[in-house]
Amino acid sequence: MTVRTRIAPSPTGDPHVGTAYIALFNLCFARQHGGQFILRIEDTDRVRSTAESEQMILDSLRWLGLEWDEGPDVGGPHGPYRQSERGDIYAQYAQQLLDAGHAFKCYRTAEELDELRESRKQAGLQLAFKPADLKLDEAEVARREQENWPYVVRMNVPSEGVCVVKDMLRGTIEVEWAQIDAQVLLKSDGMPTYHLANVVDDHLMGITHVLRGEEWINSAPKHQLLYNYFGWEMPELCHMPLLRNPDKSKLSKRKNPTSINYYRRMGFLPQAVTNYLGRMGWSMPDEREKFSLADMMAEFDIQRVSLGGPVFDLEKLTWLNGVYIREDLDDEALLNALREWAFNDAYVKQILPQVRPRVETLSQVMPLAGHFFSGLPALGESDFESVKLEKEELVKLLQFLVWRFETVPAWHKEALLEEVKALAAHFDLKMKAFLSPVFIAITGSTSSTSVMDAMAILGSDVTRARLRSAIDVLGGVSKKQLKRFEKEYRDL
Ligand code: GLU
Repeated sequence: MTVRTRIAPSPTGDPHVGTAYIALFNLCFARQHGGQFILRIEDTDRVRSTAESEQMILDSLRWLGLEWDEGPDVGGPHGPYRQSERGDIYAQYAQQLLDAGHAFKCYRTAEELDELRESRKQAGLQLAFKPADLKLDEAEVARREQENWPYVVRMNVPSEGVCVVKDMLRGTIEVEWAQIDAQVLLKSDGMPTYHLANVVDDHLMGITHVLRGEEWINSAPKHQLLYNYFGWEMPELCHMPLLRNPDKSKLSKRKNPTSINYYRRMGFLPQAVTNYLGRMGWSMPDEREKFSLADMMAEFDIQRVSLGGPVFDLEKLTWLNGVYIREDLDDEALLNALREWAFNDAYVKQILPQVRPRVETLSQVMPLAGHFFSGLPALGESDFESVKLEKEELVKLLQFLVWRFETVPAWHKEALLEEVKALAAHFDLKMKAFLSPVFIAITGSTSSTSVMDAMAILGSDVTRARLRSAIDVLGGVSKKQLKRFEKEYRDL
């Protein structure tokens, strides 16, 4: 048997370090067994999936050195590797389940489902919907069918007993069937849900081992049942521990930068990031902290993964990055790294129009443009003294801007300007007054190049990180404040 593993990201946002972590372990597992590693794009959520996000995922995994053998860009014998291009395949398999009586058409409306949920809640019953709960009498089904009501396809699930799923790291996982609902497989628009598409694709793509985050454990019983219904052998499952913030909460962008783009823009070396991800719940037999991807592939053993939540600690990563710069990069290599990072024509050319009108000698360029080549400015609270706003108002302004920037679909100056204008109006401030603290947070000084252009050039990750860092410098946001801010923000 050839071992085949895969990473199956959904392209719905920034390329997440968690995706890279799972990709790394799948790649090492495959290589260690002389097998193949596949990249599949799970873009069945047509509203949230974007081509930009997909491209960023491919770029950042490749930047980290995590190369795949088959995928949407490199092709392969089991394509297409993008689920949005495989619609007919899922429809065909959903029909197969319907024909065999393993699935049923459900004509229930959203209101009916809400009512059902409510009445079950009141009666203290399990909230999972079972096929019997959803059943309509035959005449009603016939009527809705006749009148072309929208329907979904749901899978049949047992009501009683225990489902036992095997996991490579966890032994057996037991889940009561009572907790598992009659999962929707095909949505009313004909698109598959994650569960159907994932199982069908893993089977058709010959995946033998599924290493994925532990947040998917609850899906495993449904997947196992689907494999049984189809009469297919299920890949071996391995649920990896989730990455955590230093306070042990689930890694989230509220507390830690989670986008690989951030680490790239901040000047981390890809080999250091990949190495650090390899330390997440795993260690080399000799426990050394620094190792290459090739070393990890050679020594990989999935049983060495420990389930205690691995902490993704920015300080440790920064330390390791420094070790790489000092030990592995001679002058030539360091120069190349700098070139790749920011000292290249493409990046510098974006900055020239910003500095040209503001300098008289070339020697003034670097002091003026320093913020384009740095990480987080070293600021103190006193740097914001010139801002004529109450501190709470000031922190709120920066926080609102971070939230708005989190959801800007395309990062360019005009789009950012729209966000800034809307917020300035909300705070009842003129643009200049609104931007004065933003200016300090982004450029680290009170006089520099245009802040709107600077944010557009620096990109979403560095911009947001600098705004967040300014909030921290100003004392951060207390839990109480956060509640107030969130409420006000929701009503915007
Ligand atoms: N599309 C899922 C994700 O975004 C894949 C989960 C799995 O590996 O089964 O992570």
